[in-house]
Amino acid sequence: MTIQTKHNFGAGPCILPASVLEQAAEAVKNWDNSGLSILEVSHRSPKFEEVVVKTEALVRELLEVPEDYAVLFLQGGASTQFSMIPQNFLQKHQKAAYTDAGLFGEKSIKEAKYFGEVEVVGSSAGEGYSRIPEMGTITKDTAYFHCTSNNTIEGTEMFSFPELDIPLICDMSSDIFSRVIPIDQFDLVYAGAQKNMGPAGMTLVLVKNELLDTVKHPVPSMSDYRIYRDNQSMFNTPPVYSIFVAMLNMQWLKSRGGVAQIEKENIAKAALLYAEIDRNPLFYGMAVKEHRSRVNICFKMYDQAKEEDFLSFATERGMVGIKGYRTAGGFRASLYNALQIDSVKALVGCMQDYEKQHGNN
Ligand SMILES: *Cc1c(COP(=O)(O)O)cnc(C)c1O
Repeated sequence: MTIQTKHNFGAGPCILPASVLEQAAEAVKNWDNSGLSILEVSHRSPKFEEVVVKTEALVRELLEVPEDYAVLFLQGGASTQFSMIPQNFLQKHQKAAYTDAGLFGEKSIKEAKYFGEVEVVGSSAGEGYSRIPEMGTITKDTAYFHCTSNNTIEGTEMFSFPELDIPLICDMSSDIFSRVIPIDQFDLVYAGAQKNMGPAGMTLVLVKNELLDTVKHPVPSMSDYRIYRDNQSMFNTPPVYSIFVAMLNMQWLKSRGGVAQIEKENIAKAALLYAEIDRNPLFYGMAVKEHRSRVNICFKMYDQAKEEDFLSFATERGMVGIKGYRTAGGFRASLYNALQIDSVKALVGCMQDYEKQHGNN
C-alpha cells in the first residue's frame, strides 16, 4: 500500500514515516489485537500507561535527557507554553529576557507581558528576521532567558546557546529530534509535537526539577508543571492518540540510528537544497548563510512575478507545502526527519527544469 505519493515539505503538521502511518492506522482499527481501537481505550488502562512509560523512556534515550529533568506531555500546543512559562516563573515585580528572532518569538514576548516585565535583549526584526540577533547583556535580577532554537517561519537556526547564571528556556518546536542539542544546557525545553515528533495535539516539555522547585506562588492546576510531573502527565485526560503516534515515530527514529544519525542525513538534505538555491540564477536564500536553518529552508525568486508560476510548476510535479508563510512570502521547504533525500532531489530537479524552461541563459 502506498500512502505517500507526494513530496511533503509542509512546515507542520509535517510528514511522518509511511511505516508509522501504517501502524497508526492499524491501531485505530484494532490496537494490538485487543479488539479495541486506540481511540476508545481508557488512558488509565495498564496498556496505555505502558505507552506513556515507553514514550517517556524513548524521549529520555533519544535526547539524552538528564535524570533530574521531568518529561511532560501536555496539550495546548507550543503556544500555550508562551503563557505557561511566565505564569510559573515570572512575577509582576520581576523581568524576563527574551530574544525576538521571528514571529513565534514575538508571540512569546506578547504573552509574557501579561505576567511581568519583558526585556528584549536581541531582535532581528529590523533585518526582516534574516538572522539570529546578537544578544545584549542580561542583568542578574532577570528571572530567565527565553529563545527559539529554530525560527520555523523565517528559516534561521541557533547553532550556539548562551551560558548564563539564570535559567535558560528554549522553544525547540521545529528542530527538536533533528540534531543533537545537549538538554543539560537548558532549564526548560518545549516543543509542539507536530513538527518532528508526531501528530498535532501534544506538547513535549523537558524541565529541570530544580527550576520547578523555585515556584512558590499559587498556579492554577492546568498551568502548573508540578501537577503534570506529580501525575505522570495524567492529571487529566492526556492526548492519548498523539502520544501513541509520537511513540511509534520515536521507535522509528531509534531504529534509524537515533538523533546523531538523522542529523547527518538532515545536514546532507539541507546542503543539497541550499547548493541549488545558491547555484540557480533564479533563486536566492532569505537567511544569512551562517544562520541558515537546516530544517526550514526559505527562498525567493529574484523575479517575484514568477513565483506563482513556479509554485504551480512544482505542485504539478508532486511538491506539497512549499509556499512560504504569508508574512515571509517566497518559498519554504521543510526538511523534517521523515522527509527522504529523494524528495529534496525531486525539488532540486524542479528548480533545474524550471531554470531550463524559463531562465535567461
Ligand atoms: C509551530 C511553532 C509554534 C506554535 O506551535 P503550536 O503547537 O501550533 O502552538 C511555536 N514555536 C515554534 C518555533 C513553532 O515552530
